[in-house]
Amino acid sequence: MSEIDGMGTERAFCVLAPNPSAMTLDGTNTWIIAEPGADEAVVVDPGPKDGKHLKRVVDTVASQGRRVGLVLLTHGHPDHAAGAVKFAEMAGRGTKVRALDPRHRLGDEGLAEGDVVTTGGLELQIMETPGHTDDSLTFWLPADGAVLTGDTVLGYGTTVLEGALGDYLSSLDRLRAFSAEVEAATILPGHGPKLDDPLAALDHYIDHRRERLAQVEAAIAAGARTPREVVERVYADVDRSLWPAAEWSVRSQMEYLESRR
Ligand SMILES: [Zn+2]
Repeated sequence: MSEIDGMGTERAFCVLAPNPSAMTLDGTNTWIIAEPGADEAVVVDPGPKDGKHLKRVVDTVASQGRRVGLVLLTHGHPDHAAGAVKFAEMAGRGTKVRALDPRHRLGDEGLAEGDVVTTGGLELQIMETPGHTDDSLTFWLPADGAVLTGDTVLGYGTTVLEGALGDYLSSLDRLRAFSAEVEAATILPGHGPKLDDPLAALDHYIDHRRERLAQVEAAIAAGARTPREVVERVYADVDRSLWPAAEWSVRSQMEYLESRR
């Protein structure tokens, strides 16, 4: 067990899924969130379809003297969402799964910008933060000053982009401005440890993206034509197992540069 399993805030508790990899870091962070004294909890990102992990989450909620009132997804990637329906069934009849993408819902309720989830007396505000994927959401837990970022901001390393870079940069800028305005205390990411200096973390992310963008621009100026050719230049120092993922990011960066011409 790492320092990630069991970390959290007064209301949020992390159960680490046993799916570590280069892409998922230590594994997926499943978040159990509940108001003190409440008998219902919200579970964010049940994780992969791993019966042992899902049971551990159900058992952890039960050990808090609670039941699962609702399941939310930060986005539809399988390491966050594949176990959601099975988890909802294990948690009890009628448990719903809410997500932006209708394909990942259980029940008819969606999840979108401006929604406020109030299960068990909690308050969770929903923000759409596309970029990692088009359906990426961020959840704001004002009572703890906590920002649940899913894969939009990770505990370390950087995020692979499947969505548009322009969207992602806007999402980071928005999270930076929002975190400053509300004086956010911590980021609770979808992978890796929590980040207790949200503004520093977001500045680091924003700087990194601007730097990479400049590198991609330079690689293109030096003759790279395809995403692969750009990756070979820009990601020469990065483990090759990550190159296919890097190609996704580079494709997105090339489209972004193209769109601004
Ligand atoms: Zn993801």
